[in-house]
Amino acid sequence: METRPHGGHSHEASANEMDSTLPAVAEELLKEIKKAFQETSHVPDDLLLGLKFIFGPSAVPALELVDQRSVTRVVSPSGRTAYQVLGSSGKLYTCYSSCHFCTCPAFGFTVLQKSESLLCKHILAVYLSQAVGACQELTVSEEQLTSILLAEEEDEG
Ligand SMILES: [Zn+2]
Repeated sequence: METRPHGGHSHEASANEMDSTLPAVAEELLKEIKKAFQETSHVPDDLLLGLKFIFGPSAVPALELVDQRSVTRVVSPSGRTAYQVLGSSGKLYTCYSSCHFCTCPAFGFTVLQKSESLLCKHILAVYLSQAVGACQELTVSEEQLTSILLAEEEDEG
């Protein structure tokens, strides 16, 4: 059962903005995208432009990942959640939208080290998939989720 906050414009200025790692303008944009998509099943061009403006080179590849349904929400029985994103190279990356982290090299380099980007295309794809309801759902055991969260780097061919 879903409990949704009733439809109107109830802006609750509560403390839950605190754990947000995105700038307000980015959050607003994602909200606009979600709203537009719910109403029209379509993301209008002006919002797409905004996306490119705010997120730069991550925007287009992220949209492609969403189109390809590359984002999977992985949930354990206790409700722990992670996201897995199948990158364009066929590698699977784990994203934690709650703490704004991705296991891909671009995140480590351009986001953490150089602070050039807000996020990588995978995290953006997670946010966008949430906005347009394009996440695949996968339920796993606690053990499986733990091994995803601890994901050791495996070098496979
Ligand atoms: Zn990434």
